[in-house]
Amino acid sequence: MAGDLVKPASGMIYLDYQATTPLAPEARAAMLPWLEGPEGIGFANPHSPHRPGRGAAAAVGVAREQVARLLPPGGRVVFTGSATEALNLAIFGSNAKTFAVSPIEHAAVLDSVRAHGGACRMLPCGSDGLVPEDARIPAGTQLVAVMQVNNEIGTVQPVDTLAQASRAAGALFLCDAVQGGGKLAPPAGADLIALSAHKLYGPKGIGALWIRDGVEIAPIIHGGGQEQGLRSGTLSPALCAGFGAAAALALERMVADAAHVEMLSRRALDILSGWTLNGSATQRWHGNLNVRRAKEHGGLDVARLMSDLRDIAFSAGSACASGSGRPSHVLSAIGLDERAAKSSVRLGFGRYTTLPELEDACARLEAAAAAQGVLL
Ligand code: PLP
Repeated sequence: MAGDLVKPASGMIYLDYQATTPLAPEARAAMLPWLEGPEGIGFANPHSPHRPGRGAAAAVGVAREQVARLLPPGGRVVFTGSATEALNLAIFGSNAKTFAVSPIEHAAVLDSVRAHGGACRMLPCGSDGLVPEDARIPAGTQLVAVMQVNNEIGTVQPVDTLAQASRAAGALFLCDAVQGGGKLAPPAGADLIALSAHKLYGPKGIGALWIRDGVEIAPIIHGGGQEQGLRSGTLSPALCAGFGAAAALALERMVADAAHVEMLSRRALDILSGWTLNGSATQRWHGNLNVRRAKEHGGLDVARLMSDLRDIAFSAGSACASGSGRPSHVLSAIGLDERAAKSSVRLGFGRYTTLPELEDACARLEAAAAAQGVLL
C-alpha cells in the first residue's frame, strides 16, 4: 500500500509525470527527521565525526543501500545533485574519447557529449522510437549511451542486448535510466547507470550514478573528497533519505504501479480513439502517452489547447522542455514532420493518478481539440 497523496485543492489534474513525479508521502516522512530532529540536530553534517554527524551518515548509508537495490548487483552508488550531473560524471569521468549514442537521448547526454568534444556517432532509431537490437556499434567506440525509457515518447529500448553488443565491441555502456528507474528491472548489462530521485516519487535535487565494480571514473567536481572521492560536496541527509524511501517503495510497488498505468493508458486511448500514438504501442512505459491529432482529424494547435485547459498540467509533445520552443529532436528522429510534431501532446501519469481524473482530462482534451475544427 502506498500512502495517500493530498491532491491540490485547486482541482488541477497533474499529467506531467515525465517532467517530475509527486513526492511520495513515505519519502516526505523519511526526510523530515533530517531537517530538524531527532534531538533537534538531525541537520548535522553527515561528514562530521561527532555523534549527530554519525547519525546523519548512517541515514545516508541506509539510503545508499535502498537505492542500490533498484540497481544490478556488483557496483556502487555515488550520490549526485541530479541525473544530469550523474550523466556528466559518467561522460567526462570515463576518459572515453569516442562515443556512440542514440539520437533520442535526453539533452543531458547529447549536450554533454557535444560539450566533451570527442568523436560521436549516432546509432539508428526506427519510426517506432526504438534503437534496433542489432544496431552496429561503430568500431573504436569507447562509450555507448542508450537510455532505458525515452522521456518524450515512453519507448523502452533494448538496453540489455545493446549493453552486450557494447561489451563485445570493447565499449562501456552508459544507461540513462531516469524514466525507467524504480519502474522496470534495471539494465543488467550496463557499466554505468544514472537515476534521478524526482522521477520516482522522491525529492528534487538528488540523483545517483551507479558504477560497475572495476569501471574507473575520475571526479569532475573537486573538493572535500566525499562520495568515495568521486563527488565532492556535502550531502543532504534529508534528500538521501527521501531518495532511499522512494526507491524502497518503488521496488515494493513495481508490479502494482506498472499494472495501474497500463489500465489508465488503455482507458485514455479508448477516449482518444481519433489520436495517433507516437512510438511503439507495445515496447513502452504505459505511463507515457505521446499522442498526435492526426491530419484527417484536423490537426491541433497545442498552445491554444493548453490555454483552453489550464487546469490540466500536461506537456506539448513537440517541445524538448515545455515552453522552450525548440522542436523535439525525438519526434524528428522518428520521422514526424514539423506539423505532426506540433500536433502532439504528452500525457504522463502514474501511481497517484486516478481513473476518474484521467477520464475527465481525456474527455476535455478531446472536446477542446474537436472545437478547434480543421487546422490542416
Ligand atoms: N534523463 C532523462 C531521460 C530525463 O527525463 C531527465 C529529466 O527530465 C534527465 C535525464 C535529467 O534529470 P535531472 O532532472 O535529475 O537532472
